[in-house]
Amino acid sequence: MNEFNVIDKYFIDRQTQRRDVLLSIGDDCALVKAPENTAIAISTDTLVAGTHFIADAKPAWIAHKALASNLSDLAAMGATPSWVSLALTLPKIDEHWLAEFCDAFYDLADYYGVQLIGGDTTKGPLSITLTVQGFVPEHRALARSGAKVGDWIYVTGNLGDSKAGLDVVLDSATRSRPYSKELEERHYLATPRILAGQALLPIASAAVDISDGLISDLKHILKRSNVGARVDVDLLPTSPELREFLADRQLSKQYALSSGEEYELCFTVSEENRGALDSALAHCGATYTRIGQIRSGNTLELQSNGKPVDWQLEGFDHFEEQVV
Ligand code: ADP
Ligand code: MG
Repeated sequence: MNEFNVIDKYFIDRQTQRRDVLLSIGDDCALVKAPENTAIAISTDTLVAGTHFIADAKPAWIAHKALASNLSDLAAMGATPSWVSLALTLPKIDEHWLAEFCDAFYDLADYYGVQLIGGDTTKGPLSITLTVQGFVPEHRALARSGAKVGDWIYVTGNLGDSKAGLDVVLDSATRSRPYSKELEERHYLATPRILAGQALLPIASAAVDISDGLISDLKHILKRSNVGARVDVDLLPTSPELREFLADRQLSKQYALSSGEEYELCFTVSEENRGALDSALAHCGATYTRIGQIRSGNTLELQSNGKPVDWQLEGFDHFEEQVV
């Protein structure tokens, strides 16, 4: 089987077709049409075997992780996903692998109404690059730059599970701990918070998705908004599974602060808009938790029981670290 047979068998006409796709896979370019008064949000991410996933991970999990991490960037802007392109580099053509990869990819893409409109297939070390596109009302996207002093800081879902799942992937000794299987799955099978992002469009002042860890990603908001923040680590939401897996409350909080690839949203909301959150997020399938407040200055301060904490964490060296 060669590159063209692969494209014919696995990529052409595998999905429901969107009406705004005028020409899909099979020509030199795809042709698409955006609605009026709409900005197109575009994001690209690459996952490389050995860096972002282990090469022998289940192909379905790799596909889910690749697409979910890209969709999460759209979610963080409040965008509605529409199209995706896939650049796939494969060491060899393994039909078993491709079939499983594609099934999972199309499952998730179909769920969010995203159509695969093109890509590239090459030979080399396993790597997956996706470009996702989506719609957002003009001038209304959830940028990182809108946080104001006094705004409250929230996160969706629970934090820390993905890092624990990575422990399981990398260290087989952790497999005997409680919930290791569930946490490993959560590491690969995150839910992109598309619905929450859309619901937050009229409410949040800034948003980011948590791909590098809460501390690192919140700092992106602080830097772009030119503000500081205080986060109360006692408020950080963690799952019962994580707490049992780690068997250490403080370590759970540290995981929540530094765990990357969570694909939850961190967002800020003014006091005025706070009351609207409950009804806006009620039907999004995501819980949300207030974890702190935006302050003046340019430092990120972590507190517990009203006192500063000085844990040594990735992306955070001291409790009052300069953001800029
Ligand atoms: P070209 O040589 O013009 O770049 P290709 O032979 O690489 O064209 O691709 C043929 C068609 O198949 C194009 O429409 C391209 O977008 C699509 N395609 C190739 N690889 C993939 C892939 N991995 N996923 C989706 N579409 C793909
Ligand atoms: Mg090509």
